[in-house]
Amino acid sequence: MKSNSYDVAIIGAGISGLIAGNYLAQAGLKVFIAEQHYAVGGCCSYFKRDGFTFECGAHSLGSCRKPDGYLYKIFNELGIYDELGVKRARCSDTVISSKYKINFYGNTNEMAESLSREFVNEKDQIYSFFKELEGFGAKSFLNYYSRYRHISFDAVLSKYFQNKELKQILSFFLGNVGVPSDRVSAVTALALYREFVADGGYYVDGGMKKLGDVLKKKLEDNGGVISLRDRATQIFIQNGRVVGIETERCGAIPSRYVISTAGIKQTFIRLLNEEMLPIEFIRKVKQSIPSVSAVILYLGLTGRMIDPQDWGRTVWYMPNLDPDNFHRKVFAGDCNEHIDAMILAFPSKYDHSLTPAQCESLMCIINAPYKNDAYWLSKKEEFKQAMLKRTAEVLPSIKDRIRVSEIATPPTIARFTLNDAGAIYGLACTSDQINANFMPSKTPVENLFLSSHWTTQGYGQAGIPVVALGARQAAHSIKKKLIKVVN
Ligand SMILES: Cc1cc2nc3c(=O)[nH]c(=O)nc-3n(C[C@H](O)[C@H](O)[C@H](O)COP(=O)(O)OP(=O)(O)OC[C@H]3O[C@@H](n4cnc5c(N)ncnc54)[C@H](O)[C@@H]3O)c2cc1C
Repeated sequence: MKSNSYDVAIIGAGISGLIAGNYLAQAGLKVFIAEQHYAVGGCCSYFKRDGFTFECGAHSLGSCRKPDGYLYKIFNELGIYDELGVKRARCSDTVISSKYKINFYGNTNEMAESLSREFVNEKDQIYSFFKELEGFGAKSFLNYYSRYRHISFDAVLSKYFQNKELKQILSFFLGNVGVPSDRVSAVTALALYREFVADGGYYVDGGMKKLGDVLKKKLEDNGGVISLRDRATQIFIQNGRVVGIETERCGAIPSRYVISTAGIKQTFIRLLNEEMLPIEFIRKVKQSIPSVSAVILYLGLTGRMIDPQDWGRTVWYMPNLDPDNFHRKVFAGDCNEHIDAMILAFPSKYDHSLTPAQCESLMCIINAPYKNDAYWLSKKEEFKQAMLKRTAEVLPSIKDRIRVSEIATPPTIARFTLNDAGAIYGLACTSDQINANFMPSKTPVENLFLSSHWTTQGYGQAGIPVVALGARQAAHSIKKKLIKVVN
């Protein structure tokens, strides 16, 4: 590739890099994206084994409601909504413990109804809780933000409910951020509920692979360039202002703006010279706490036995019904070979193109702390067997049907995405780390912007919808600045 100069160079072609790049290319700007992996998508990528296509991480989407879901708006603005063929599972989530099996349907009324059937005495409170959730939205955000910013989700649950088991069931979904209910910000949890649970269960027809592929093609159609297997090694600064990046394959890429979607420690400590940055800022970067990581077991199975009517797009299995204890341990760095909590997803039951004929695939995810390669090498098989045993408790036929199995550990995630500590959700959403000013898109370096699950917009992270929204905002900030310059 010949050396060229760009309006914007973006580090990383995960969902945030692709969305930001698309907005900028759509506006006629020259965009270059460096991606170290062989495929786009980051945590939302895929791999193939023996005829099976496995989704590496993200398997379900939220916030696609018309007309105001974040993702619906973004896909629509980028002109890819129809092409993606976004579909929705009737039941978004199923919660299973040894005592309960509750299906959550994608709206607050039906969710309140499902829960009220199990907890009759709390019915009025359940409806009040979901009513409060419904009020939380773009227009009321500042109101909620100032009210709940310093309050934990546990405090909100305790305001409504006495019943411990009900509170535990409502804390199951915090597996999506990996922080216990007494440490997660209420704002994060309410945003998670609104955008990912009450408006969840969406998927892309053809698998999540298609999301990255469609975004890549659209960017290229608009003149953008994506350089794969090309790691960014440096961000160049002159007179306090960003002037480009260096990548392994392309060398120096001059650009007027840079967006980094890499982790904040990588961006400010390894790609930049930290001495150029304010001491207080670097201290904050160094002290920031990453989210949990995960162990993921991918199974290719012979036969099609999983009933699409029975379970939601995502199944939360927690036999002992104690999510807080589990999240607390993992967040504190304890490994849990007893597999007290596991997420199961079955992308192929919605889309048979992901497996060979008469086969199906299954993804088992447990949140896990980051430990080094040597640790996971010695523990991998133990975890795999423990996860299989747990899975067999809800799907007894599983062991005799395994045709393909692969396991990813926290170092695998770190290697493929370069996220510090293999963090699957970027910054941990503790109350002190969700403040919009904690790690905003605008950085102390002129014309260097951030956009990823390592930035904060006040919500904390709730997966792809919030990441995409941040990318849209970063792109808009740059467009506004460039337009000002032209005028
Ligand atoms: C197991 C798992 C399950 C998940 N499930 C869901 C789900 O169902 N729904 C949901 O909404 N969210 C889910 N998430 C979270 C969601 O996938 C992420 O929050 C989101 O995809 C993050 O996107 P990003 O672009 O910010 O970061 P990333 O996806 O991490 O992308 C960053 C990209 O930058 C590249 N990169 C980094 N450094 C460099 C460098 N120096 N040079 C070049 N390239 C570089 C990486 O290779 C990567 O492609 C899940 C995540 C995981 C891991």
